[in-house]
Amino acid sequence: MIWILLGPPGAGKGTQAKFLAVHLGVPHVSTGDLLRSAVREGTELGKKAKAYMVAGDLVPDELILDLVRETLETGDAPGGCILDGYPRNRVQAESLDEMLAEVGQELGRVIRLVVPDDVLIRRIAGRAADEGRADDAEETVRNRLQVYRTQTEPLVAYYESRGSLTEVNGVGSIDEVRRRIQRVAEGKAGPR
Ligand code: AMP
Repeated sequence: MIWILLGPPGAGKGTQAKFLAVHLGVPHVSTGDLLRSAVREGTELGKKAKAYMVAGDLVPDELILDLVRETLETGDAPGGCILDGYPRNRVQAESLDEMLAEVGQELGRVIRLVVPDDVLIRRIAGRAADEGRADDAEETVRNRLQVYRTQTEPLVAYYESRGSLTEVNGVGSIDEVRRRIQRVAEGKAGPR
């Protein structure tokens, strides 16, 4: 079963996806992490993706689709996985549906982390200071938020209409949010 964490930059997707992966005993698959290591290693994919990432734009779908298909097909995630950072637009969501049908996996919950903008911006500024992520610079962050609003947020309606969406309040300590998500994983919190 594939679970998805959906939310804007700074919502805590990466942190919470790792906890949820441990809780459900499945791998955490972050397309952002996969791309960052491709850039570090200087692979063909990394070379193609770098400029988009630095600008805070989405990397072209065809590059991402291969990455996700490989992960789902090569048996890295036979019991499913937690997808963090994918899908990011309608084409990716529809491709995921096709890939799941091909590999015989089902979609679990799509967890939307809900966090207001002022909290997001504060968190990202903190992360920029702590981790020095190149795409956490102010101008790029503004673009990433804009890209999220226009391309990724419409997926909320996409998954809601299929009854797959659960909203989780992403404001609070890491531990509070972790417990809220855990309740969803244990089936104690139904669809929103
Ligand atoms: P993230 O760590 O998920 O915030 O991703 C960092 C950057 O990697 C994004 O700003 C995009 O440039 C790129 N990226 C990650 N996942 C995707 C995706 N599913 N589609 C397109 N670009 C992506």
